This record gives sequence, structure tokens and C-alpha cells, in this order.
Amino acid sequence: MRTIKTALTLFLFVFSAGLYAQDVQTQQEEVVREAGHTNQNKFRQLYQEFSTPNQYRTASGAPGPAYYQNEADYKMNIELDDLNQKITGSETITYHNNSPTNLEYLWVQLDQNIRSKDAVSKLKDGNGIAPVAQPAGFVSEYMNEPFDGGFNITEVSKDGKPLAYTINQTMMRIDLPTPLKAGESYSFDIKWWYNINDHTIDRGRSGYEHFAEDGNNAYVIAQFFPRMAVYNDVEGWQNYQFWGNGEFALPFGDYEVNITVPADHILDGTGVLVNRKEVFSKEMMKRYEQAKKSYDKPVLIVTQEEAEAAEKGFSEKKKTWTLKAEKVRDFAFATSRKYIWDMMAVDLGAPGPEGDVMAVSLYPKEGNPLWEDFSTKVVAHTLKSYSAHTFDYPYHKAISVHAQDQGMEYPMICWNYGRPEKDGSYSDRVKYGMMSVIIHEVGHNFFPMIVNSDERQWGWMDEGLDTFMQYVAEQEYGEEYPEDIAPNTKYPSRRGEPSKIVNYMKGQQDFIAPIMSNPENVYQLGNNAYGKPATALNILRETVMGRELFDHAFKTYAQRWMFKHPSPEDFFRTMEDASAVDLDWFWRGWFYTTDYVDIGVKEVKKYFITDKPTKEGTAMLKRYGVEDPSQLDVLYVVEEGSEEMDPAMKGKTPAENAPTLNEYLMDNFTPEQRSSMKMPKYFYQITFNKPGGLVMPLIVEYTYADGTTEKVTYPAHIWRKNDMEVSKAVASDKEITKVVEDHDLKTADIDVDNNSWPRVKEAGEFEEFKRQNQG
Ligand SMILES: [Zn+2]
Repeated sequence: MRTIKTALTLFLFVFSAGLYAQDVQTQQEEVVREAGHTNQNKFRQLYQEFSTPNQYRTASGAPGPAYYQNEADYKMNIELDDLNQKITGSETITYHNNSPTNLEYLWVQLDQNIRSKDAVSKLKDGNGIAPVAQPAGFVSEYMNEPFDGGFNITEVSKDGKPLAYTINQTMMRIDLPTPLKAGESYSFDIKWWYNINDHTIDRGRSGYEHFAEDGNNAYVIAQFFPRMAVYNDVEGWQNYQFWGNGEFALPFGDYEVNITVPADHILDGTGVLVNRKEVFSKEMMKRYEQAKKSYDKPVLIVTQEEAEAAEKGFSEKKKTWTLKAEKVRDFAFATSRKYIWDMMAVDLGAPGPEGDVMAVSLYPKEGNPLWEDFSTKVVAHTLKSYSAHTFDYPYHKAISVHAQDQGMEYPMICWNYGRPEKDGSYSDRVKYGMMSVIIHEVGHNFFPMIVNSDERQWGWMDEGLDTFMQYVAEQEYGEEYPEDIAPNTKYPSRRGEPSKIVNYMKGQQDFIAPIMSNPENVYQLGNNAYGKPATALNILRETVMGRELFDHAFKTYAQRWMFKHPSPEDFFRTMEDASAVDLDWFWRGWFYTTDYVDIGVKEVKKYFITDKPTKEGTAMLKRYGVEDPSQLDVLYVVEEGSEEMDPAMKGKTPAENAPTLNEYLMDNFTPEQRSSMKMPKYFYQITFNKPGGLVMPLIVEYTYADGTTEKVTYPAHIWRKNDMEVSKAVASDKEITKVVEDHDLKTADIDVDNNSWPRVKEAGEFEEFKRQNQG
């Protein structure tokens, strides 16, 4: 006797098996053969790529019970020689060994040695001669005597007695008379001087700009002192040389710095200005008190008129500015008699005015009117936006300094480009370029100044995360200040939108390195360490995880690693740990490979249901041992247009075409139940193929004959058993007239010509999309 259960099982079985008639074995072989598709499951966990979790760093991505970090405190006296562009300094470093091991020697970073006359880093590239060059670069490369800007170390000592040391390019090993024991501290002194470079010529991250018209210099000074290297559980000593691209790995510490400059200079830098009353005039003090209460617009501490008056002099007198900073990983300052100075208060929600942060800008008159209109306001917005997504900005100020062609970050202070024409006019490109670089560099306070990743090894951990947050903050700026951007438009972000990374992703794969690469070893650092990770995270937020899960996990990462040293795994693991979204496939594809996204709609087939046996259905039943299908209640599917398709079936529901199904419904459901059932007229098999190596969710828009549309997102895991192509069965009571994959360009699909069925042949909407991509 035929049972209802058998009939139902076979109905489902034949229906689905009929649609997926291809032999699984054959598909697997195809997968192996196809270029760009590895023979390993893309959803396997990242056990091989990730370091083993341990007592220092747990499998959840949080610091472990044995986590430690060493610290370095600095007391420094610095003097700037404005006449000769020279800097002289002495420092006492107190190094705290919080590690469980004894240290026989200490490594100190001498980054300025990249500018030594005989620096090996100048010989590192094998690219030959470039077909185009900027005149300034050409002169410095081929025509000038090499500039000698390396450190001159004049003393390394402990209590007045010399210490043995060895300099290897940009690293200095100090040999300790007896090992520094676990848990103990060691203080020693270093004295040095060096010639400051003109950063407008050699593109260094710090230096001075000379203004020929008034004869003055504006200094943005960083990497100016011998700095402790990081010692930790991941690298031991991070003493990978500074070759120029990989930025910095630095321990946290407290700083007390006295900086002596000409008396007519204005100066600001990392830390609290502790002798404000000595270096400010009465008028400046009064304005400063006003600025602390001004939450809507900046207050000028030094006006343009005053700065222009100062430009005309050159004081022989000196003035010392004292700055103190706690829990910072570095120290930098800017100084010039050309600076205009403004500030406003930012309320991040901490109680009382003491909890407020000051947004600050320093700029020569050459930056106006752009800088007085936007800089400090953008700093304030950045602090609010980033704080909302991470943690409240913990320092008391953030300074944006205008420096030609610069975009570089330090704790509490950064240098930014964006200069109007001589007549004060500026293009939108200059304006948004300036706002964006300020958001980016101020944003670096969060990554890596506070979430203190190892920039020397992993450029993307600070640049990628910061560029992602920059995109978020830019879009939020557009919402907060629509009057500052063109009406009814989004903030014109240069990076972050999926379409903007397409050209890089589809570029010559041989010349693309995975994101998980050292910054020295990639061809296009801007795309590799900034654009691609930022876009990946934006896609992760908008398309894979959703904002709620992503934002919580991202904030968890920021808060777990605030004032600590995270590794890539700590980020990857936390994002999963805090969201319950399996992301191994995402990290592997986007961060560990150079695969790109290319997903298409291969074909759409329409089917009808019938009781009449089909050849394919009968053959299938035979394979499963059913010799006489007439003994079973089964349904068959028949493709529209095939010989076996009875034209009378068209437009009828399955129950109308298949009495077996109708009987089944009548026998097993009440009229009420039947009336609440869907009664589809059409069955489709839609096959999606994936020429690209990256797996991504399928975001499909179905258009029906009545003009209505429906969007369905199938999770990326749809690719877990077949990396080449997948088919979906869709039951519908309306005829499907169009299927479009990734209609809104959310996945960085590199070829959208194959994204629609029927294929769009003439210049249609995708041509339009492609034009937008080129922007
Ligand atoms: Zn950056």
C-alpha cells in the first residue's frame, strides 16, 4: 500500500533531484580544474593561517590572563635651531620590562637614519627609471648632493657612564651590563642632533616647509628622538628595519618634554601644555578661556593679523614650552612664527567641562580661508563620530596642523594637506581632500595611537580600519552638515564604496598582494592597506553582517584593545566572537588571497509540475531502484518548451496539472488550511555561476511580469559545497521576467555584464553603473 509519507518524500525528492540533475562528482572535478578556484573548501576554519591561541591572546580575540606590555617613559629637552634647521636633544628613557622574560639588550629605533647620507634604504628599489617625474623629486633624486639627515648620537649612558651600543641602520642595540629582569625597570640617557629635512622636497613624514616670500619655516617634527622598539609575545623585539613604507611599532609611556624654540614661535604638540601662563600672552589666555566654552565654533587664539605681523620679525630670544602626556605611544610637535591658532570645545558626554576635549588647528595664512572655515570643525566631528563607534576619545585635545602635501598622524596631533590658490580660491577637490585627510589623520588617534597595532608589520591594521572609519565619519559628516557639502548629495568619499575598489581588484593579479602583507612588499600601498580593507569592512558591515552585529563587534574589538597591542587574529577573532557570524571564509578570501568577486546569473529555466512520467524522472527513479513508478504517488517536473511539456499546462497551478497533488491536498488538509496555502503557478531553477574566486552572499532582485520586484539575499554559505555554480529553486505565483544579481553594486563585482537575465546587451543600466565605477 502506498503511504502518504512515501508520496510526500518522493515528491520533494524528485522535484529537487530533478532540478539538481548534475552529477556532484563531475562538478567537484570542474572546481579543481578551473583557474582561480582552489581545491580547498573556502569555508574551512582558519586553523592553519592563525597563530595558536594562548595565555597572552585567547581564541576569543581578547587579551589573555598572561597578557603583558612593556612601557617606555621619556623625559626630554629639545632645542630647535631655526636659523640652521637643526634639532638637538637629550632624553632619559625609563623602560619597564613587564614581560615574564629577562632582557639582555634593548632595541631603540633611529628612524631618522633613513635620511643618513649612506642609508641602505635609499638603495632598496629595483624599479629603474620612471617615465615621469616631478621636478622637485627629480632634482632631489638626481641633482642634489644627498641630504644628510641621520641621527648623530653623541652619548648613550647610564648614570654618566657610557653604555655599549651597536647601530644597524635604523635600529640601535643597547647592551646591558646585566640583564633587565622580568618586572624591573631601567633608566638610561641618549643625546643626539640631526639636520632637519625640507619635507616638501623629500616627502618625509616630518620636517619643515620653507616660505620664500617671508623667509620663514613651518616645522612639523616627528620621529625626532630615539624611540624604544616594542617587545612582546608576538614578535619578541619588533626590530624590522624602517625602510620607509611600514610605519611604526611603539610602546605606551608617559612623556615630559621641554622644547626650546625662538620666542616668537607658536608651538603645540602631544600632551598637556603645563606652562601655558609662561608662554601665552594675557590676551591669548583670555581667548583660550573663551574657546573652552565655545562648542559651536572655533575661537582664534592667534589671529591671522597677529601671525602676519610675527612673520616679519625673527626673535633672537628663546622660549621653552613644556608638554606632559600620559599613556601615549609617541610624541610630535609643530612650531612656527607663521601659525594662526584656533580651538573649540567638544562635548563627548563626559561630565563637567573637565571631560571636554579641545579641537585645535594650526595653520599659516597660506591655508586660509579654507582652514579657518573647516579644520577645527572637522576635527570636532571626527572625535564625535569615531568615539560613537569605538570608545570616548581619552585625550584632552586633538590638533590638525596644515603642512603642504602632508598627511601624517601622531598622538593628539597630525599634519594635513589642502591649500587654496594664492587668491584664496579653491576647488571642491581641494576642499574635500582637506576635510578627508583631516578626518583620516585625526581618526588615527583611535587606530593605531590608542588601539596600538604593529604598523611596521601590518599596515592595514591601522590604515584599513582607519580608512573604513573615515568613510563612516565622512558619510555622517554629510548628514550632520549638509550645508557644507553640495545639497542633496552624499559626502564624496574617495574610498569605501564597493565600486571604487573594482579596478584594483581586477588589475593584474600578479601585481596584487593579499592584504595580509608587510607594507614594504606590496605594489600599491594605498589600495592594498587602505582601500581594499576599508571596502572589505564596509561590505562586511552593510552586506554580510548588518550594522547592528558589525558595530557591536567592531566596538568590542576597539574596547578590548584600547591602550593595548592587538594582532590581526585578535581583530578577526573578536569580530566573530562578538557576533556569532562565521567569518573565516570572509577573512580568508579578502585578507589572505588576491581573489576578486565575479558572480553572474548563468541561466533561468521554467518548470511545470505534472503526474505524467518524464524520461528524466523515470530514469532517476530507476537509479534509485524504483522499477515501476506507477506504484508510487510521485510528481514530475517538466521544463517549459521540452517535448514532454503539454502546452495546456501553461499558466496552471501544480494542483491543476497534477491530480495526485490535488488528491493529496484534499485528503490531508481542511478547506481552511488549503485556502491559506500558497498556490504557485511557476517553478524556476536559477543558476548562478561564479567566475571570481571570492565567495559572497548572492543578492538577487527578481522582477515579475506585473512590474513588482523582490529582493532575496542568499548567504555566502550557499557556495560551501560548490565554488563554481549553485542553483536555486524558486516557486512563484507570478512570472519572473528579470533576475539581477548585486543590483545595487554592493559586492565589488568586477564584471557586471553577466549579472542579469536576460542579458543586458545594449548600453543599459549596467553601462551606467560602470560609468559611475570609473569616478
Ligand atoms: Zn593613515
